[in-house]
Amino acid sequence: MPFTHDILLLGRGLAGVALSETLAARSLRVCVIDAPQEGRASWVAAGVVNPIVLRRTVPSWRASELLAIAGPFYREMQHRYETPLWHPLPLAEIFPTAQEAGLWQLRMRDEEMARMMGTGPLNDAGLLRLPQPYGHGVVLRAAWLDTKALLRAHRDRWLAEGRLIERVLGPDEIREHDGGVEVAGLSAPMLVHCSGPFAQVKGLLPVRGEGLTVRMRGLSLGVMAHRGVFIVPLGDDRYRVGSTFAWDNVWSGPTEEGKRYLLDKMQRIWSGEIEMVEHWAGVRPAAQDRRPILGRITQRQAVLNGLGSRGALLAPWCAAHLADHLIDGKPLDSEVGCARFA
Ligand SMILES: Cc1cc2nc3c(=O)[nH]c(=O)nc-3n(C[C@H](O)[C@H](O)[C@H](O)COP(=O)(O)OP(=O)(O)OC[C@H]3O[C@@H](n4cnc5c(N)ncnc54)[C@H](O)[C@@H]3O)c2cc1C
Repeated sequence: MPFTHDILLLGRGLAGVALSETLAARSLRVCVIDAPQEGRASWVAAGVVNPIVLRRTVPSWRASELLAIAGPFYREMQHRYETPLWHPLPLAEIFPTAQEAGLWQLRMRDEEMARMMGTGPLNDAGLLRLPQPYGHGVVLRAAWLDTKALLRAHRDRWLAEGRLIERVLGPDEIREHDGGVEVAGLSAPMLVHCSGPFAQVKGLLPVRGEGLTVRMRGLSLGVMAHRGVFIVPLGDDRYRVGSTFAWDNVWSGPTEEGKRYLLDKMQRIWSGEIEMVEHWAGVRPAAQDRRPILGRITQRQAVLNGLGSRGALLAPWCAAHLADHLIDGKPLDSEVGCARFA
C-alpha cells in the first residue's frame, strides 16, 4: 500500500509548527493532527526570545547557535504568511542591586556575552518611568515572537490545504507496523509526537506558568523590560506580564496566587493604575535536565519535546536537527537525544 504522506505529526504548538514547516520546505508530504487543548503552552507563551539566563547572567544553552537559526526561520514565516510575527526588540534588565549591575559589567568581558548584551542606557521614555536606582543592562539580541499570530496563520493555511486535521488522537489509535504508522485513516513511514506537556515522554517535567495581559496607561514602554517578571509591550497601552513557575498542580489553570504574585511584582515598579485585561495559564513541557528531547522512541515513531521555557528560541533549531536525523540519517546530538532518559 502506498503511504498517504511522508511524515505525520501529532501536535501543533511551536514544536509542531516549526517541524511541519521545516519538513514541508524539504518537499515532504506532511500532515499534522492537533486539537487545541486547555493548558497548551504555545498559545499562552509570552513569546520573549532572550538568549541570556538573567538569574545567572550567562548565555542560555547554545544561545548563539540557536539565535542564528531562529531569526531567519521566523523572518521566513513572516514572509510566507505575510503577517508580522518577529519583532527584534531590546530587553532592559533592571538591576535589583548594585552587585547585579557590577556582575553585568564583568560578564561583558566574555566575547560571546559581549555580542549579546550592552550597558545601555536605552533611550526609551517608558523605561525611564520605571524606577532603577542601579540602572539597567541591555540584552541586544532579544526579540518578541507573536506566537498567537504564528499559530493562527499556520492553522489557516494548513487547514485550507488539507494538511491539518483537528481532532484529539487517542494513544490506541496509533497502529505501528514494520513498514510504517497508520492513524486516523492516514499512513506514513514515520509519526513524530510534538504533543508538548500532554505527552507521556520519559524525562518530561511539566511546569505551570501564568501571565497577565494588563493595560498601563501613561507608561509608553517601547522596549521589553525585566525586573523579576518580563514586561512585553503590545501597543495600545497593553502589556504582557509574566510568568510564574509552579511544579505542583500543573493543570490547575489560572490561580489567584499567580495573579497576586504578578501584580505585586508590577506594583513595585509601576505606581500608576494596572488594569487587568486577561489572566492566562499554560503548562511548559520542560525536561528534567532542561534540554530538548528529540529522537526515535520506536522504529516508526519519534518525538520533539522538552522545549521548556525557551520554546521560541529552541523550536527552529530542534526542528532542523530532528529533520537532519530522521530524513538524512545524521547523528543526534547526545545532549538532546531522548535515549538519555531510557
Ligand atoms: C505562561 C507561559 C509563558 C511562556 N513564555 C515563553 C516565552 O516568553 N518565551 C518562550 O520562548 N517560551 C515561553 N514559554 C514556553 C513555550 O510556551 C513552550 O516552550 C512551547 O510553547 C512548547 O511548545 P510545544 O509545541 O512543545 O507544546 P504546546 O504548545 O503545548 O503544543 C502541543 C500541542 O499538541 C496538542 N496535542 C497534544 N496531545 C494531543 C492529542 N493526543 N491529540 C491532538 N492534539 C494533541 C495540544 O493540544 C497542543 O496544541 C511559556 C510557557 C508558558 C506556559
